[in-house]
Amino acid sequence: MQTNNQLDLLRDNIAALRKNGKRIALVPTMGALHAGHMALVEEAKRHADAVVVSIFVNPTQFGPNEDLDAYPRTLERDSDLLRAAEVALLWAPQAATIYPEGFATKVHVDGPSAGYCGGARPGHFDGVALIVAKLFNQVTPDVALFGEKDFQQLAVIRRMALDLDFGLEIRGVPIVRDEDGLALSSRNAYLSVEERRNALALPRALHDAADRIRGGADVASTLAAASADILSSGFAHVDYFALADSHSLEPLTHYDGRSARLLAAAKIGKTRLIDNIAI
Ligand code: AMP
Repeated sequence: MQTNNQLDLLRDNIAALRKNGKRIALVPTMGALHAGHMALVEEAKRHADAVVVSIFVNPTQFGPNEDLDAYPRTLERDSDLLRAAEVALLWAPQAATIYPEGFATKVHVDGPSAGYCGGARPGHFDGVALIVAKLFNQVTPDVALFGEKDFQQLAVIRRMALDLDFGLEIRGVPIVRDEDGLALSSRNAYLSVEERRNALALPRALHDAADRIRGGADVASTLAAASADILSSGFAHVDYFALADSHSLEPLTHYDGRSARLLAAAKIGKTRLIDNIAI
């Protein structure tokens, strides 16, 4: 595995892969890798000859009072995991390489970025769209993989890739969960033992609400009951618990049999967790 943090070297590496006619997959991450990230890498290997993984804790997608400084950084361990998974290239740039002095460009995607995490974290998806657009231009992948764990992010990126003619394939990968059902997340490392136990209320509420909605229960009262369940299980705040069209992410007030998704975000202690489930 090659590792580098210089843009000109990255271009050389990509050119070398291209020269050999390799189909290239990109897996963008912020590091602190876990089995969820590694599932993206394994899926990437099925759709390309060479996998490029980026690790960059992107400052522009964090709000002023969010966890940019505290975000776990475990580059050495991540690098070992990626090497063992036969990744071709690890792209781990510094912030100054990505956002040099005088950087002034923004990328804003309307539509799927409205509401949910877009409402709770103003500017978050602008930062995501910006870094992902830059990574697409830097790596020029044939296919890029993103987790359904960040379901709204996946919808925003699909929209952006279409709108800006990136001409690559975007693949979503199902959520990888711990044995007890909690979705794997780098932020789970923030949880105390008690919070980790209580955090299970989130996937449980999603699962129960999905069952009820499939069974024809009233959507509004099901969503309200699910939020109340989460709050009574030790969560401090529910940012949203919503039913949305899987493609447009428009909120649904009743379930009409179309492809839909329950989306939720809630805070336990200081940690914000997100999760979702298909209906
Ligand atoms: P992050 O490092 O949190 O920015 O995540 C990098 C990529 O991994 C994103 O596409 C996430 O959606 C994906 N990802 C994170 N956690 C999981 C998970 N538990 N299952 C599947 N994909 C995940």
